Amino acid sequence: MRQVQALFAGFALTVALWYLTQALFAFYGFTSWERATAMLAVLMPQLALRLFTAIVPRGDPSPVGPAADAPPSTTKVKQPPPVLRIAGFLGLAMSALVLSPYQHHDVVRVALFVYVGGLTSTGLWALYSAGRASTSRAVRARVRFLVVVGALATAFSLADFLWFVGARLPPIGAVLSIVFLFVLSQSLQSTRLLDLYDLAGRLLVATALAFFIAAIFWIFVTLVGRFNTMYLNAVLASIAVLVLFNPLQAMVEAKTHQIFFRERFDLETAVMDLRRRLAHVLETREMTEIVLGGLGNSRRVTAASIYLRDVTTEPGGAAYVLEGQIGDATKVVRVEETSHRVLLDRLMRGAVVLEEIERELSEVIDAGDAHAAAPLRELYTQLDDLGGGVAVAIKADDGELMGVLIVHDDRVRDAFAPEEIALLETLAGQLATVIENSLAYMRIKERDRLAALGAMSAGLAHEVKNPLGAIKGAAQLLAEAQPRKADEEFVGIILEEVDRLDRVVSSILDYARPRSTEVEPIDVNAAVRRTMQILAPSHHDQVNISIDLADELPQVRIDPEQLRQVVMNLVTNAVQAMGGSGRIAVATAYRRTARATWPVTLANGAVELRVADTGPGISTKVLKNLFIPFFTTKPTGTGLGLAISQRIVQNAGGTIDVQTTAGVGTTFTVVLPAVGPLPVTTRPDQGRPDQGRPDDREVA
Ligand code: ADP
Repeated sequence: MRQVQALFAGFALTVALWYLTQALFAFYGFTSWERATAMLAVLMPQLALRLFTAIVPRGDPSPVGPAADAPPSTTKVKQPPPVLRIAGFLGLAMSALVLSPYQHHDVVRVALFVYVGGLTSTGLWALYSAGRASTSRAVRARVRFLVVVGALATAFSLADFLWFVGARLPPIGAVLSIVFLFVLSQSLQSTRLLDLYDLAGRLLVATALAFFIAAIFWIFVTLVGRFNTMYLNAVLASIAVLVLFNPLQAMVEAKTHQIFFRERFDLETAVMDLRRRLAHVLETREMTEIVLGGLGNSRRVTAASIYLRDVTTEPGGAAYVLEGQIGDATKVVRVEETSHRVLLDRLMRGAVVLEEIERELSEVIDAGDAHAAAPLRELYTQLDDLGGGVAVAIKADDGELMGVLIVHDDRVRDAFAPEEIALLETLAGQLATVIENSLAYMRIKERDRLAALGAMSAGLAHEVKNPLGAIKGAAQLLAEAQPRKADEEFVGIILEEVDRLDRVVSSILDYARPRSTEVEPIDVNAAVRRTMQILAPSHHDQVNISIDLADELPQVRIDPEQLRQVVMNLVTNAVQAMGGSGRIAVATAYRRTARATWPVTLANGAVELRVADTGPGISTKVLKNLFIPFFTTKPTGTGLGLAISQRIVQNAGGTIDVQTTAGVGTTFTVVLPAVGPLPVTTRPDQGRPDQGRPDDREVA
């Protein structure tokens, strides 16, 4: 690379000096200036040829795989190619001619003209062929662009010389030479070829526009006008430029992209089209089909795959399942968070590009940083296993990773430019919306289904309750009639099962019961105490239940039997969740103010009842369905405990909330509005234990 930069510096310097000596000669007219100009003209194509042949290294850029520890490529001392040797001889001959006393101007000029044109074209041709042989699409685009600008610069610079045959052209060559040198310098500086791709695009548009504008002025001022009308014509030209500027810019931009960056144009239209079609999609399967089909049709990817989050997994152990793929993308059908953490973490920070990781890896290997190389190598392997060129995250609004879109073009390296990756990211954003909508839609469907089921079962329960009573009565009679030993056992089973059925049916009826209208205010502490007395003996020794009741509480308006049922449900759930051992804390407290989300205003504050356990916690999936009737994770559960509790609390004007942490425990908090004020002696501002605790906060 050093050599290329030195050559570039030499070349740029020669071009600058050449313009300078030419100007000096035009100004002072000394022959020595003319000779200097001619000498520089001899030197210039020599440097250009050497530079152009050195820009694209021979052979492919060595791919730095995860195992490639060796320093990249070692430069071998090579013989210069024959074309350079021939050019060298020609250069010597031309120098001799220029410096010789023989100064027949026209002959020297024509010889120089042919020499400069010939060598520069050869250089450009060498550059073009080297570029075309490259496997990288970005290198090919860069070189194509360099060659076009370079050829234009050469052609117009040579045309600048045509003044001696009488043709006077505007000094376009000088402008193009500057543009060319700029592009060249950028292409040598930039390590990321793709940045150049972008820069080249903008520069090309700007140059084309500048020429358009200059042409408008040229037509008005030179062709249409004479000297005395020049001012007027300049104004007219300016007006024409102002009117035409925007449409012209749009047109030039569109055309440039179509001609030079055709692939990108294809991807852009494909993605736009996909986004339009996705606007009406509600199901993830249909979404996957549309996206993969659309990407396939764009012919810009050879493989693509979509992974979506497996909704049945627990938090902390998420997994992503292959939802669909085209091409020979991958054989990995399930990506576990635990095994692909490096990749998933990196995805959360932005798109992951295989070639970029490769470059990073070779940089850290060059720097001898083994510590940084290990995770990069892992990242490379993980993405490579998924067949990925580029992976973009499908992220929900709250930042949760819902899936991954992976595209790959195995025909070329560096297949996707940064703007294309940005395009894919916008697509992923829309996929996230579709997934979220589809989840919401599924939830609504599920809720409707369960609501209908609930109504139906309430009716059914009514019907079952009476025959159940009759069966139980008959069984009891049988039991009393002193049956034989074997029959006694069966009668026992009948009675047990009838009781169980009766409990279920009663729960269903409890749930469906209309809210009781007139209830007296009661003391929550008393209700809790009674329930705990009934509950305590039935639990194993390993469950430690602590009860911490506030000394004084205002009363609340709720059916005491129903409140006992709520406490019973919460404590029973806690005991069952802990599998028989752990700690349960039941507590009551006074809460002065309402939370912002509270549905009613609390004139007198509220009473808070908390049941906290040290169980395993509740997974996100269970949490979403916790209060839905018939939702249960227990083999013999009814799934009605929490639904009924919620119904009871809500009927009393209160709320029930849950806080849970995996592996730590769960706390259910019931808040009931107080009926009267707190007794004067124990108002919270007079030193109650919970004083100073922000009342809106949740219990941890
Ligand atoms: P059931 O107890 O009959 O299953 P519930 O409505 O009382 O019905 O509870 C629904 C589900 O909520 C339970 O199956 C359980 O998975 C979960 N759950 C309730 N309380 C807890 C708790 N304290 N800890 C963990 N999971 C709980």
